[in-house]
Amino acid sequence: MVQDNRNIQEVGPKVLPMIQLGAEIYFVDLRLKQFRQVNNPHVCVEFGSDAGRLMCGRANIVSCPDCGVSMIIPRVWRGQDLSCIRCLTVLP
Ligand SMILES: [Zn+2]
Repeated sequence: MVQDNRNIQEVGPKVLPMIQLGAEIYFVDLRLKQFRQVNNPHVCVEFGSDAGRLMCGRANIVSCPDCGVSMIIPRVWRGQDLSCIRCLTVLP
């Protein structure tokens, strides 16, 4: 019997990247440039704060120096020439 997969759609929640700092786990909000506590999303750490910069380094999050968009760079791409996903500026 041939399976017909044409009507299969992606359903359910999307998986958000998460990072641990101390005892708390945070999910990454690239749009707001914040890490938000999983247990209390009202508690957040801004990317630009001291703790936020540390967490960005751990999560491999880079912000474009020209347009400011933030992206997660897969570790396998380290050391390669990468461009911003929005403005195509070469990332430092
Ligand atoms: Zn950019």
